[in-house]
Amino acid sequence: MKYPRGHFPGGLKLAGHKSLSTQQAIQAAPMSKQFVLPLHQHIGEASLPSVEVGDQVLKGQKIATAQDYVSVPLHAPTSGTIIDISEQPIPHPSGLSALCITLEADGQEQWVTLDPVKDFTTLSEHELRQRIRDAGIVGLGGAGFPSFIKLNPHAHHHVETLIINGIECEPYITCDDMLMREQADTIVEGIAIIRHALRVKQCIIAIEDNKPEAATALQEAIAKRSGLGETDVMVIPTRYPAGSEKQLIQAVTGKTVPSGGLPIDISIICHNVGTTYAIARAISQGEPLISRIVTVTGEAVERPGNFDTLFGTPINLLLEHCGSTLSEQDNLIMGGPMMGFELLRHDLPIVKTCNCVLASVGEPQSTAEPLPCIRCGDCAVACPASLLPQQLYWYTRANDLEKAREYNLFDCIECGCCSYVCPSEIPLVQYFRYAKTETMTKEAEQRKSDNARIRHDTRQDRLALEQIEKAERQRQRKAALAASKKAAEAEKQADNQESQS
Ligand code: SF4
Ligand code: SF4
Repeated sequence: MKYPRGHFPGGLKLAGHKSLSTQQAIQAAPMSKQFVLPLHQHIGEASLPSVEVGDQVLKGQKIATAQDYVSVPLHAPTSGTIIDISEQPIPHPSGLSALCITLEADGQEQWVTLDPVKDFTTLSEHELRQRIRDAGIVGLGGAGFPSFIKLNPHAHHHVETLIINGIECEPYITCDDMLMREQADTIVEGIAIIRHALRVKQCIIAIEDNKPEAATALQEAIAKRSGLGETDVMVIPTRYPAGSEKQLIQAVTGKTVPSGGLPIDISIICHNVGTTYAIARAISQGEPLISRIVTVTGEAVERPGNFDTLFGTPINLLLEHCGSTLSEQDNLIMGGPMMGFELLRHDLPIVKTCNCVLASVGEPQSTAEPLPCIRCGDCAVACPASLLPQQLYWYTRANDLEKAREYNLFDCIECGCCSYVCPSEIPLVQYFRYAKTETMTKEAEQRKSDNARIRHDTRQDRLALEQIEKAERQRQRKAALAASKKAAEAEKQADNQESQS
């Protein structure tokens, strides 16, 4: 299906609350004494510690290595001593703990020797990808997918269009907006590097029409940069969730990513502006990814803003720095109010996927149960993935996960538009998150039991084959014995006949 440029189905017009955090330039976050660094800050396998407790490390030094193809290394955000490697609470919707490396800063900020590249065009696509991987770069829009993989499409995929995502459609979040305003030249350098790695002809930088300063800054940076090739800024109407990858592609190109498919299936690759900036720094300065811009905002902080924050910095240090007025009944959210998740503690560390810390004044919680579905259809109208949320709701409530899958449960991007508009206040997206997790858990268990069955069947087949081979060997031995006995008797008989004659 094709949509008119700038549009996608459904979506919402939300109050932005963006000006809260765009009143001042990006600042350096306060320096922490300790940094807690979770080893799993990306999609895929967690990285493996390559340091031990007691080791002295330099800023930017690799402290954990990639464990698998879908994995990236982790680097020290400052110089200091490794004081602990153990399970610690991490910022995650589950509220669970995971393995973390704790670094105590020595205050020296002493960098490891960096290896910048003067002219990236002298590097092959493979060398660029390897450097981007070694720098630990993952998608900074929130997904955390290792970026080098998106720069390595399979041979049978041809990339026609590179889309740089400068949308930032969730209310309150402004880190990408401020980065585009202040670092447009470096973002454009990153685009040139990605274009070189992908050999792509066309690039579109998509920005919503509520960020005119960012659009102007990028247009000026493109005009200054020679040899960039066809690169345009496209300003699209502000509508949530325009920054979600599939909706972005619809809005920019009018094309639809097939159900269960990826953008590369229609020859498109998307990268976030923050990721593009990190790629430029990794190649041109040789710097690994050790920090990111984080928006700290909400009505429960006195001085909201955007902060260049080293990974592992405790959130409460940022909150204190911004004049937090958070009380017991207020909410602390990582991400935006639509797709973010509540943090149960304030001392959790900033990680690669954290674009915003939202300290919002708590509204009195409705204790009433959701009302029954009245089949008004508002959720279907709002759904940007063209799903039927009320049907999905029936099936997930009835725990009929098969049927929910048939209704394209896995195309749900968990944007929350359906819950937002539902007059019965049914927390639809929570049902869908639960159903997806349940389905994936069941499938993983099924795969495990299938593998166990295959292993058992293979063993049985091997034992049966061994039995057959053993029986065959016994038969052959018996036959050989009988043959040699027969031959001996024949020889004996021949000897007897000879002696008688
Ligand atoms: S919006 Fe709510 S009440 Fe209306 S159809 Fe959807 S689930 Fe039912
Ligand atoms: S949460 Fe899922 S079902 Fe609900 S509107 Fe978003 S994509 Fe559609």
